[in-house]
Amino acid sequence: MHLARFPRVRLAHLPTPLEPLPRLGEKLGIDLWIKRDDATGLAGGGNKTRKLEFLLGDAFEQGADVLVTQGAVQSNHVRQTAAAAAAHGLGCAIILEARTGSTAPDYVGNGNVLLDKLFGASIRTVAAGADMNAELEAEAGRLRGEGRRPYVIPGGGSNPIGALGYVDCAREIVTQADDLDLAIDRIVTATGSAGTHGGLVAGLAVMGSDVPVLGFGVRAPKARQEAMVLKLARETAALLGRPDAVTDDMVVADCDYVGEGYGLVDQGVIDALVTAARTDGIVLDPVYSGKAMKGLIARAAEFRGQTVVFLHTGGAQGLFGYQSVLEGALL
Ligand SMILES: *Cc1c(COP(=O)(O)O)cnc(C)c1O
Repeated sequence: MHLARFPRVRLAHLPTPLEPLPRLGEKLGIDLWIKRDDATGLAGGGNKTRKLEFLLGDAFEQGADVLVTQGAVQSNHVRQTAAAAAAHGLGCAIILEARTGSTAPDYVGNGNVLLDKLFGASIRTVAAGADMNAELEAEAGRLRGEGRRPYVIPGGGSNPIGALGYVDCAREIVTQADDLDLAIDRIVTATGSAGTHGGLVAGLAVMGSDVPVLGFGVRAPKARQEAMVLKLARETAALLGRPDAVTDDMVVADCDYVGEGYGLVDQGVIDALVTAARTDGIVLDPVYSGKAMKGLIARAAEFRGQTVVFLHTGGAQGLFGYQSVLEGALL
């Protein structure tokens, strides 16, 4: 494995810190650490920035002049893509899916959406359930018709090129842990479009590290999520020249904490947000990292005494799209 062989545009503040969470750890009976990928820097940070480093590298190699991508209305991926485009003089065309059905003014106008507009992206919103891959292709076709050179980034930046960002993160975590004499029993992350989870699994597998990764799902049921992560982890390992490095048993997702659905908040998520904020001053988000923390809190007894690294994937900017949902719960 040699990541320097892949074109890359530096966007993130790396390495992100690997820090103890002593107070929450004590509460949960876990030797709990946090990998601060909420602090990657670009546009407020988050996990998509690592993926975008390799995706923009590829986009420039292909001579692109405009990025095209999609996400839910409060997509953190879209926000980071819009910022990366602005920072490198590229256009950015965004398609937002009204996936949660919310029409609350803060949801459709504040948080990530406000930032997308600040970065100058063009935005088109489509109905929930639209075929987003078809929408991406149609948008790219329109731009080609105008003489532009679009580069299409799938939802979440999750393809093998984007997942290289989390191969690099796996390497970073293992290196930092070795420097700290920290023997990690488990890495825990939210898992959605699978690039984060799949990249971590591929990176660890290719390195020969046997640290298990547990992904808490935010949308799909377990079988579908695991199949998606496994496929992407295998394709990513193949891109690194090690097509057989990833085995089925390396991919584990727990999708029991999704609640009512993607982007929908329940009391368990609110409790997780409040606990992280009031115990260690950590801001989680209601869609991803809050759901992963809800799962970790619920299952803490199983991990008692273990050293667990919680990957904070970011998303705090999305909180401001959820004011109307959250503020009544924060009294
Ligand atoms: C996109 C996102 C995730 C999920 O990562 P995937 O690579 O899509 O699985 C987790 N947390 C936050 C904050 C995100 O924006």
